[in-house]
Amino acid sequence: MNAILHPSIYDTYPQNPKPERIYLSYSFLQSLHTCERKFQLDHLLAGSVEEHSSTFSFGHAFGIGVASYLVHQDPNKAIFLAWFAYWPVIEDEKKNWAKCYCALQAAFSRLDDLLQDYEIVSFDGKPAVELAFKLNIDAVYYFAGHIDVVIKNKWTGLYYVFECKHTGLLLHDIAPLYKNSSQALGYSIALDRIVGEEQSHYGVLYFVAQLAKDYSCTIHVLPYDKTLLDRLNWFVTLGLDVKHLKEMAVLGIYPQRGGNCLQYNKPCKHFGTCGLMGMDQPRKIEKDTAVYDFEYDLDELIESHLARLERMQGSEQQPPLVMEEV
Ligand code: SF4
Repeated sequence: MNAILHPSIYDTYPQNPKPERIYLSYSFLQSLHTCERKFQLDHLLAGSVEEHSSTFSFGHAFGIGVASYLVHQDPNKAIFLAWFAYWPVIEDEKKNWAKCYCALQAAFSRLDDLLQDYEIVSFDGKPAVELAFKLNIDAVYYFAGHIDVVIKNKWTGLYYVFECKHTGLLLHDIAPLYKNSSQALGYSIALDRIVGEEQSHYGVLYFVAQLAKDYSCTIHVLPYDKTLLDRLNWFVTLGLDVKHLKEMAVLGIYPQRGGNCLQYNKPCKHFGTCGLMGMDQPRKIEKDTAVYDFEYDLDELIESHLARLERMQGSEQQPPLVMEEV
């Protein structure tokens, strides 16, 4: 009965044999983990509009500037490309172009230090920057992401997925924000094909700008060692999230997580209206026209990772040194 009150895309499936697949990303799944009703309103129902924010514009511009500097070591070019990428121009006290400029100035010297120990990996004759992948989970859902940059440690030979981030949290230790994050871990699925050989050990490296109110910026470089098992666990977790989505769609129930209505001292944009379910209408899923550098199927990846782990079992392969913050 709830399925009638809360229609979803799943109501037309499998009667409709070829529905457009539903897109999932790291940020979509973060929204799902915050509140299922919020996820439904933002991504499954008609009426929600794409949200632009100063955080998105800042993060995009900063990431472009950092990636450019890593490849060219030209600060003027990096600042110009970042300025050009600051779109839409949404600025507030905490995130604005001036702060982005200051963050880039702070980043350049740390990137110079980083390049003493790491080099940019090439893929198809070009620097491995902004590569897109698509992971088909089942007939209905797929996950997609963009890898910022792939780098290689010159001394250990270990490959890293480089992810550029920023935060306004002024904590002394920001490692808990990133150490167990699944973002770069998930993005590492394309690493073997980028590198051209199977990697049993690899790393993720978060390059984080910590923004203070006075426009000063502290850069943190946080590399973490990862294994095939970490990635396999991420695949299984993704499968569990999709199972949860399917169950909610069948039941027509998307829980309201009241504990998350207030986040970072701001009320959720659906506060006061998310309980009105009579008008819920499924969203028309648009065809995805993006071009992906890599495409995978989840079942095949799980099988291949299980086989690789089995082959590794009993081998004397030692994990590389775990590197702490530099
Ligand atoms: S207001 Fe609270 S319960 Fe409603 S969608 Fe937002 S987070 Fe969920």
